[in-house]
Amino acid sequence: MGLYILFAIVPMLLGLMAQQRIRSAYAKYSAVRTNYAVTGAQAARQMLDQKGLANVRVERVAGNLTDHYDPTKRVLRLSEGVHDSNSVAAVGVACHEAGHAYQHADAYQWLMLRSRIVPTVNIGSRLGMILFMAGLFLSSTIGQAGIRMAWVGIILFSLTTIFTLITLPVEFDASNRAKAWAASTGVFTAEEQKGIEDVLGAAALTYIAAALQSLANLLYYVTILSGSSRRRR
Ligand SMILES: [Zn+2]
Repeated sequence: MGLYILFAIVPMLLGLMAQQRIRSAYAKYSAVRTNYAVTGAQAARQMLDQKGLANVRVERVAGNLTDHYDPTKRVLRLSEGVHDSNSVAAVGVACHEAGHAYQHADAYQWLMLRSRIVPTVNIGSRLGMILFMAGLFLSSTIGQAGIRMAWVGIILFSLTTIFTLITLPVEFDASNRAKAWAASTGVFTAEEQKGIEDVLGAAALTYIAAALQSLANLLYYVTILSGSSRRRR
């Protein structure tokens, strides 16, 4: 239990820190307009066109932080605030999403793997939780069979953790592609590039925190179950 508290508190604090950092970085660089005065949508369009991705549309969607790239429809959806703003933060976020379109065009292995496992992860996380709970509950009457059922549940549930880990290279790489493009254009000042880096760096931290949280959860279930199977032996 003591170990779990350590494993739970560290990712939780990191998560809070990451949220705080992204909020402040975003607030700061949303107020800074780029010299080039290009909107998020225009920057994404230019970045896409440079790779010959004229077939990828850029759309405007409602909401906040709803920005994403949809590989099935080849559409880059940007939230209103990113789509229409010419701030450093908007350009950073828009180009990060365009980075995912670059990955798709290159058949970047981690992105491909992530998309391939999505359906399995969705089923695995739900079924895993059910098997874990049911197995643990039934272990008082059916003994080892229940424990085994719970272990299968944990293995299925671990797919969620694997997914959050695979997400890391995908997100880091998309940000790297955005930064590389911004640097290659020659139209963004060193300070603006640093701003883009700050915003994307803060976003990366939230993904790291999510992966650690998932890992800690998994560890918690393993601890519960191994304690329970020891008692039954
Ligand atoms: Zn992303």
